[in-house]
Formats: sequence, C-alpha cells, structure tokens
Amino acid sequence: MLRPQGQSWQEIKWSALTSFIFALSGVGIVWMWQAGYSTIYIDPFKYAIFYLPISLLIALFIHETYYYWLHRWMHRPKIYRLVHKIHHDSIVTSPWTAFSFDPLESILQAFVVPFIILFLPMHFSMVMLMLIIMTVSATINHLDIEIYPKGFEQHWLGKWLIGATHHSQHHAKFLVNYGLYFTFWDKWMHTESPDFEELFREKTKI
Ligand SMILES: [Zn+2]
Ligand SMILES: [Zn+2]
Repeated sequence: MLRPQGQSWQEIKWSALTSFIFALSGVGIVWMWQAGYSTIYIDPFKYAIFYLPISLLIALFIHETYYYWLHRWMHRPKIYRLVHKIHHDSIVTSPWTAFSFDPLESILQAFVVPFIILFLPMHFSMVMLMLIIMTVSATINHLDIEIYPKGFEQHWLGKWLIGATHHSQHHAKFLVNYGLYFTFWDKWMHTESPDFEELFREKTKI
C-alpha cells in the first residue's frame, strides 16, 4: 500500500512539535540533576560496574511497561480521538512517523525519563544511551522495511524484540502489537497479532 501524498509533511510538522516537547523534557532532566532531585551519578564505579547495563535494562523495562499500558489506554475510543489519532493517521509508516504525535501524547511520553531518574540510580552515560536507543528503535519500528534477519522471529532473543514488521501491524490493524521495544507485554496479555510470525517470514523470504 502506498503512502498518501503529503503524509511526510504532516509527519514532519508533528515531529517538530514533539522535538520541542522532548527538548523541554531534556531541560527538565538537566535541571533535576543540577538541583539534586535526580539519582543520576557521574562516577561509573559508584556501584558495581555491571550495574551500568543492569540499570539500563531496568529503565527500558519500566519504559516498556509504562508505554504498553499508556498505549492500551490511548486506544480507548474517546482518548484515542483526543490523544493518539495523529500517530495513526499514518497507516503505512515511514521513518518520519516515529515521532509524529499529538502534542498531548508527546507530553505523556516526555514524563518517563524524568520519572525514572527520580528513584533509579543511573550513570549519566546510561541515560544518554537510553535516549539514543529510544530514538533508533522508534525509527527502526516505523521503517516499514524489515531489517532483522530471516528466522529472527524464532530466535531466543529476537522473538522478544520489536521491529518494523511487528509495529507495521499496529498501524495497519490498530488493536494488536502495542509494545515499544519488547514483545513480552503483548505476549503476556495476548495482544500480539496471531499472523505476526507468518508476515515476518513473508517479509524476510529471499
Ligand atoms: Zn507507531
Ligand atoms: Zn496506537
């Protein structure tokens, strides 16, 4: 299916607003850090060195959980029209869709990192890495072109990661595949599209 003419310009417009709101969130994070209201730390040896990746995984798990349930809530009909519809104006996604949100949705999403650093000790570099993962993963998930290799949907790690095929089904079918980085909430709550693996095999067939 083709994207309608003008879709990218709409997406760029909404993404610019999202960038502004996310930048305000960044300012908030730095302000919290400098004012002593955050758990961000500088010395990488303050805790055991292996705590660095563990803190990142915990933060991603918290973000996943927050987003999955926020996303389910945003699909309630009244909330959907008010908050989430703009993201779904893109039936066929492109990298520009990744941050094409209603400003209300951007605000709801912008709270997550400031919330996490209120209580979870994170090294500054892990906060930066989380922001990079967030951006790269959102872009990959909206590519509409599968970049993961054949068999990834069955791989011990790959089956837990969301990619372009997984998220393209959310835009095409609306009420399946709500996850952000990982598939576990969709699997646990039985909201993963039943034909996901079949479509993945189709898209990765040589
Ligand atoms: Zn999306
Ligand atoms: Zn949605």
